[in-house]
Amino acid sequence: MSDWYEAVAVRDVHANESQSLADAVISRLVTDGIIQSEIDSETVLGGDGGHRPGPRIESVYKRSENEGPFWSLLTNGVEVCDGRWVNQFGFTCFDGFTCPACSAHFQLDHDAVADPFSKAIGSFLDGGNDLDVVCPSCNTSNAAPNWKTAPHFGFVNLAFQFWNWPPLNSDSWNIDIPALIASVTGHNVLVTYGRL
Ligand SMILES: [Zn+2]
Repeated sequence: MSDWYEAVAVRDVHANESQSLADAVISRLVTDGIIQSEIDSETVLGGDGGHRPGPRIESVYKRSENEGPFWSLLTNGVEVCDGRWVNQFGFTCFDGFTCPACSAHFQLDHDAVADPFSKAIGSFLDGGNDLDVVCPSCNTSNAAPNWKTAPHFGFVNLAFQFWNWPPLNSDSWNIDIPALIASVTGHNVLVTYGRL
């Protein structure tokens, strides 16, 4: 079984407020018993560690029959990604790029789009904002975050990765975690995902 995450990416966060907003979200999730306060380096893959599910997780998520408890998994952390974040593991489960202007669709191996898109990711992570990708079909230039992709690549200053948690929009939850994060931060969020 491969590992995956859902990520709640917080939009339009300035670099100088990402830390305080991250702290506010973690504090709220800990207070609500959804995550533990400690950071455990074993709970995420490739990052600095994450928060395991908290003491109230079984009262906010109802398992279906035959569904194992994700809170018993080794990799089950909530990872704070404070600073420029792109959903890089989205490429492993990616269905291509759709131009926001003309809706032309390009596969991942279409270099005329994939190359500038990859460059935009590199530029963003390096602190730049050279994000334009020209559509080979209609010649319109749009910033990479505005291209339609599934999963979305984020391009945000703050994200929370939920490693191996069930889909956050599942009916099995009796709380709406993305909405809670939007409420605590005062920003819109988008939910995306990636797989290793
Ligand atoms: Zn186009």
